[in-house]
Parts: sequence; C-alpha cells; structure tokens
Amino acid sequence: MDHTYCMLIDGRLAQASTGETIEVVNPADRQVIASVPKAGPDDLDTAVEAASRAQWAWAAEHPVDRCRVLFELAHLIRDHHDELVRLETAQYGGPVFKTGRFDIPAAAGILEYYAGVGRGLTGMTLPVGPSARAMTLREPLGVVGLITPWNFPLVTAIAKIAPALITGNTCVVKPASCAPLTVLRLGEFAVEAGVPAGVLNIVTGPGGSIGEALVTHPKVAKINFTGDSQTGKRIMSLASAAVKPVACELGGKNAFIVLGDADLDAAIEGAVWSSFFNSGQNCGSASRFFVHESVYDEFAGRFVTAAEKLTVGDPLKPETMIGPVAYEAHRDRIERFVEGAKRSGARLLLGGERPDTPEARAGFFLSPTIFADCDPKMELMQEEVFGPVVGLAPFRTSDEAVALTNDTRYGLCASIWTHDLRLGMVMAEQIKTGTVWINQHLAIVPEIPWGGCKESGWSKENSTLALEEYTMQKHLWIDLAGKPHTLWEDMLR
Ligand code: NDP
Repeated sequence: MDHTYCMLIDGRLAQASTGETIEVVNPADRQVIASVPKAGPDDLDTAVEAASRAQWAWAAEHPVDRCRVLFELAHLIRDHHDELVRLETAQYGGPVFKTGRFDIPAAAGILEYYAGVGRGLTGMTLPVGPSARAMTLREPLGVVGLITPWNFPLVTAIAKIAPALITGNTCVVKPASCAPLTVLRLGEFAVEAGVPAGVLNIVTGPGGSIGEALVTHPKVAKINFTGDSQTGKRIMSLASAAVKPVACELGGKNAFIVLGDADLDAAIEGAVWSSFFNSGQNCGSASRFFVHESVYDEFAGRFVTAAEKLTVGDPLKPETMIGPVAYEAHRDRIERFVEGAKRSGARLLLGGERPDTPEARAGFFLSPTIFADCDPKMELMQEEVFGPVVGLAPFRTSDEAVALTNDTRYGLCASIWTHDLRLGMVMAEQIKTGTVWINQHLAIVPEIPWGGCKESGWSKENSTLALEEYTMQKHLWIDLAGKPHTLWEDMLR
C-alpha cells in the first residue's frame, strides 16, 4: 500500500525522531503492507508536552465546539469507509464483512454518540444549609494516555478518544504495533478536521518502551488500557508509583450456559457467532460452554454441524466469515492451547488444525475448533485463548452452572440461554461478570456499559458511564454567611 504513515504530534504529522520504523504485516499473506514510525522517548515526551499545553484551552472551549470536532471526525471516517475497511482488514485479518459492517460504522457511531451525550454533563448541588451553597464541578482530568489493542484497532481507540476529548481532556494514543494503520489515518483526519494542535496525539512504538514511558510520564493524569491481563497488571504496577489511576479492560473467559429448556436453534446460532466471530479474538467471546446434560449431546452435534459451515479464507472476500488470526506468534500460542487440550483428554469434535487450502497456507489461519467433555479446571477452560477454540462441559443443576461460570479469575461477561426468564434473572444476579445476556451474546453497543470485574478489570467503556472515567467532580463550597462556621468560633471570642 502506497501511503506514508506518520504519527500525530502537536498538530503535525511526524516520523520518529530516531528515523526507525516498524513493519506491519498482513496476516492473510505475510506481506509487509506498511512501515510506521518507531517512536523514541523524545517523541513521546514531545507529544505529552503538547497535550499538556493544549489541555486548558481545549477544556475552556464551548462543549458545542468540541462536539463539532467529533462530528467532523465521524464524517471523515464515513467518507473514507471503503479505504478504512480494506486497511483494517489488511493489517490484522478481520474479514471485510466484519470491518465493513461493524468496525468502521461503529467507529463513526461512537464519535456521534459522545458528541451528543457529552454535551449533557452535570455536577451535583448538595444540601448544606441556608448559609452556604455546595456543588460539584465536573472537570477533565488533564492529559490521558490511551493504550489500545489490535483486535478492533480503530473502534477500541475511538471508544477511548471520544469520551476523553468531549469531556475536555487532551490525549496521547498508543495503538498496537501490529495494527496501527487506521488509527494513524485518524490522525490525518484530525489535521483535516482542524483539531487544535496537541489535543489528539498518536504515537507508535513498542509497548515495552513507549507504552511504559506513557504510563510513567508525570504529566499524564490517567491511563486507559485495553489488552492482556498480564500487560494490565504491569501497567498498574508502574502507575501505582505515582498513584496514577488506570482504567483497564482486560481479558475474559466467558461462559455460555445452555439450560435444558433453551431454544436450541437460537442457542446454536448464538454459539457459533459468539465463539468464532473475529476468529474468537474478542475479549467478550464465549469460550466455555456449560450445557445441561439433557441437551448436551444434541447441542454438541448441532454446534459442530453449524461451525462446519463457516467459510475460512481470504478476509478481503465478502463471503469469508473467518480470516487469519492477527500474527504468527499469536497463532503459535493458540496452537499450544489446542495441543494442551488434546493432551488433557478433552474430546476433539472439530478442527484443531490449520485449514489445508492454498489460501489458508499463505497466512496465519486456524480452523474453528470445538472440544467436548472438558474438565472445567483444565487450561483451555481457564485461560484466555483469544482464538477460534472453545470447550464444552455438561452440568446438572442451574446452581452448578452458576458455580462453574464463576470459577475463573476473569469476570467480563456470560450468557444464559433459556425460555425461563425468571430463572435466567436469578442466575444473572448470581454471576460475577460485568455483563450477562439472556438469549444473546456479544451484543455491544455505545449506549450500554462494557467492562468487567475480577481480573477482567473494573472500568467502563461505552455509555454515559465512560464519561466518569475521564472526569473528576471537584467540590466547591461557597459561604454566604460572611464568616466560616468552625467548632472553635465561640472559644476564640
Ligand atoms: P498486549 O496487552 O500486550 O497489547 C495491548 C497494547 O498494550 C498494545 O498497544 C501494546 O503495545 C501495549 N503494551 C504492551 N506491553 C506494554 C507495556 N509493558 N506497557 C504499556 N503498554 C504495553 O496484547 P498483545 O497484543 O500482546 O496480545 C497478547 C494477548 O493479549 C492475546 O493473545 C490476548 O489473549 C490478549 N488480548 C486481549 C485483548 C482484550 O481485549 N481482552 C486485546 C488484545 C490482546 P505493542 O503492540 O507495541 O506491544
């Protein structure tokens, strides 16, 4: 692809001061598709200083003017839909049906959503008696550092950028090194849209150096991170030295519970979608299937039949449902989980190998893989695989299903498939995750909060709750009596 990719620092498109670059490889055919700047510490520092200089004036703008900037970025994304779809697909392998029908429209939609709701920010007025007035002023945090992953490259970045900017923060974004291209294009749109210098900065470079420099920079007020739980722990430990808050959206090991009375047609459709959409590279993917013993064999058989129909191949073809996984080392890691599950005695029902077609041999492809009769304690049922590999286990009672669901260090999401909405509700209240769906899985829209508990993190993306992540409420007390009331007031006379 014939395009020079630059970082956005202080309103200017820039190469790294070191002159170094990072190659971006298309996982569908292993071809290098672009080089991007490999920032050094000076570049990161320049970006944070620019964000810091710009923040006061940006926060002082009328909210309507900040809102216009978000609408303009959304407009440019929609205008470049086809180009962005191809770019997103080429850099990390998500098929065009997904990048075209979800990623790019969703990126614009999130900007539009926050351009609207971000204008309605409020503080509180507090009852403190007749001689004073007390209130909270909702204020931005300052410069925020946004560290984003590769599995939804543009959408995840925008889900952080939009609420951060509308609330008056400035930001420095560090996208994933293997898939930074659409976020870098967003930087070019920001220049075109007239985003004031320093308000949005985008810096590319390795997480271990540039990401950590962002986390520890004294002028960065908060970090918002999505990615691996281990990386999240490292970021939190670095940030703790400065008591710096970290919003984290981390891994998941999400349960899909099929009760005996479930509509199996709906459950099978939901199962295939929630397991294999985006090759299972979703933090919300269903990967642990707990199926009532009365329908276990039927569900397993029909799940395999449905998954066999998935088309794996060139992600640029509109009919492709499953593309490659994002990079070679990630495929190798997923395959180690598959081998481990085989050794542990799980029964392989489908897949477990690389698809043997010329198209698939060219890249980092994996077949949809289903294991049955999994021990809920085995590695496959406890660790985030982040690939198209799932495990099934039977259960007898709804209490047992809840206990199995909660038996993980993660707490992102779960789904329950049943006609019995009363029982579904009772179970949902007992499940320790940030989201529970009933007869649905992976419904994620800007209007609803997204985020987990336990080792899946604690912060919220999407919805008005995300605005809380980027604002503080400052208490303001105004005395109307002309003198302060203190416990000493009579003693001092
Ligand atoms: P990481 O968590 O390592 O990467 C996510 C982002 O964090 C990238 O921008 C990365 O930069 C950056 N980063 C990495 N290390 C640091 C650090 N020490 N300090 C600051 N920033 C850092 O995920 P990977 O891409 O390596 O994927 C590994 C696994 O993580 C996957 O197999 C999957 O299990 C899980 N994952 C989960 C996601 C989720 O949404 N739950 C999303 C992505 C991955 P760089 O790219 O330069 O390393």
